[in-house]
Amino acid sequence: MLIKSAASIPTRRVNAEWFTGTVWQDPVAEPPAPTRAKSALVSFEPGARTNWHHHPLGQSLYVVSGTGRAQVWGQSVIQLNPGDRVWIPPGEKHWHGASPENGMVHLAIHESDATGNHVTWLERVTDEQYAQKPGV
Ligand code: MN
Repeated sequence: MLIKSAASIPTRRVNAEWFTGTVWQDPVAEPPAPTRAKSALVSFEPGARTNWHHHPLGQSLYVVSGTGRAQVWGQSVIQLNPGDRVWIPPGEKHWHGASPENGMVHLAIHESDATGNHVTWLERVTDEQYAQKPGV
C-alpha cells in the first residue's frame, strides 16, 4: 500500500493551450502501470472551459460543486449541477467547464489506451459556442 499526503501533491495549473480561462488540477489517482485508470479534481473559474476534445476510452465526470456547462459536438449546451454524473463515450467530441457566472469543480476519471494517451485535444471552444443558453 502506498499513501501520499495531500501536502506532497501540488495543485497544478492546466496547460493553457488546451483550456480557456484559469483551471487548476489536483491529481487524485495516478497509479503506476499496469493500471491505466486515472482521476483528477479539476477546478474551473467562471467562464473557464476545456477545448473541444475526445477520449480514446471515454471519460466519467462527477460534479462536486458549482454550476457547469458541457456540450457534445452538434448538440445543445447542457447545464451541470453538483452530484450530476456524466459519461462521455470513446471518441465523442465534447467540452466541459464552468458556467459564465459560477465556477465548477468536477472529478474526472479516464483510462489511457495502450499508447498511454487518454485525451486528444482539438480547437478552442469559441465565445460564440460557449455563449449558447443551456437546455434543461
Ligand atoms: Mn472530457
